[in-house]
Amino acid sequence: MTRKAIVCGGSIGGLFAALLLGKRGWDVTILERNAVELAGRGAGIVTHDLLCRLIVAAGGTTDDLGVAVADRVVYALDGSEVMRAPLPQIVTSWDRVHSMLRALVPEGRYHLGVPVCGYAQNADQATVICEDGRRFDADVVVGADGFRSAIRAQMHPAVQPEYAGYVVWRALAREADLPPDVLDSTFPYFALYLPTGSQIIGYPIAGPGNDLRPGHRRYNFVWYAKADAAVLQDMLTDASGTRHGLSIPPPLVREDVVQGAFDLANRLLPPQFRTILARSERPFFTPIYDHVAPSFADGRVALAGDAASVARPHVGMGVTKAASDAEALARALDLAPVVPALAAYSAERQPAVAHVMQFSRNLGHAMLTAGPDGPSLDGRGNPNADFILHNTALVPVFAAA
Ligand SMILES: Cc1cc2nc3c(=O)[nH]c(=O)nc-3n(C[C@H](O)[C@H](O)[C@H](O)COP(=O)(O)OP(=O)(O)OC[C@H]3O[C@@H](n4cnc5c(N)ncnc54)[C@H](O)[C@@H]3O)c2cc1C
Repeated sequence: MTRKAIVCGGSIGGLFAALLLGKRGWDVTILERNAVELAGRGAGIVTHDLLCRLIVAAGGTTDDLGVAVADRVVYALDGSEVMRAPLPQIVTSWDRVHSMLRALVPEGRYHLGVPVCGYAQNADQATVICEDGRRFDADVVVGADGFRSAIRAQMHPAVQPEYAGYVVWRALAREADLPPDVLDSTFPYFALYLPTGSQIIGYPIAGPGNDLRPGHRRYNFVWYAKADAAVLQDMLTDASGTRHGLSIPPPLVREDVVQGAFDLANRLLPPQFRTILARSERPFFTPIYDHVAPSFADGRVALAGDAASVARPHVGMGVTKAASDAEALARALDLAPVVPALAAYSAERQPAVAHVMQFSRNLGHAMLTAGPDGPSLDGRGNPNADFILHNTALVPVFAAA
């Protein structure tokens, strides 16, 4: 008899889980909270060989996946180059990966506008409970509903995302809007600025509609900036005085908060990054949190992707980690009945991602911590720069298998 799975959450983690289970003959249904398709989340992501292998395993293609960058280049405050390392990588956008995977889901299997709120189970089946009262039965339920997961909240009510003490500002600039000197000095590279206490990462990605033609691409700007808990509370308060919980929808970020970021950028950033930010669409910020659930399974219910764990984005592995969770889950279900299979999945993945999370904290610590000669205020002479340059947005060796 065909085995049935319900996947809660239709973002990249949920799509990988659905597709990899589908390849093995499972009958899979995806329940996504958003009422409209998840297009247009323009942020950039870095790809890895591991991710490419899993995209192909899910039925996708790595042709035209993104933009190839050959070198990493570190700049000082005056805009000059201070370090360079060859590190070829394909950089792409969240949209590109999501839209490719979404197109592979069979008709009628992806349901929009269905928020789930919990689950029940007995020895024979698991049941997803939706906010509108509907219930869906299956052999397996996968909670791929992101870092504020309702499935995890029921499985592990004590787990709370932990704030790292800094936020990331992100913005996208159109290639056509950037002046030639900025294009020449930054666009072909994975570019970094590494003073103590802050960090910039920038790289080219496809333009709207996954357009990879020169002149039509975009530049992905990522800027980590410290914000203590009180400052964060203020940043999370919208113009009507409503304070949002863990994050705030980008359109609700107050104008003075955005202006404050521009003012800080004008004082603290190298000229090419100031120009990129000034010519970008309105920037938005995300507070940096991390967490790892103590186990990824409860009977017939599994957690995957950001619902199971979030590592700080320094490792650039969120999508790869979600794909690896999905692969391990599907593989475990090939080998054993559901309950022991999910226990084996949890035993394999939980310690592995806890290790990745710790490594991402080490990268965050390296960003914040001065060397023995004091802080680097201009991006020169930072003794942590080499570690950051050679470990940021790369799968750590221990997680590459
Ligand atoms: C600054 C920054 C940079 C990053 N850079 C990278 C990078 O370079 N490389 C990389 O791989 N990753 C990167 N990431 C992380 C990456 O975006 C995420 O890890 C990845 O999208 C996780 O996918 P997910 O499907 O597990 O969770 P999400 O993408 O959060 O998706 C969860 C889904 O579940 C849905 N949902 C939520 N609640 C419910 C509910 N109750 N019922 C039904 N559906 C629900 C949501 O609507 C959403 O569609 C970065 C993140 C940040 C913040």
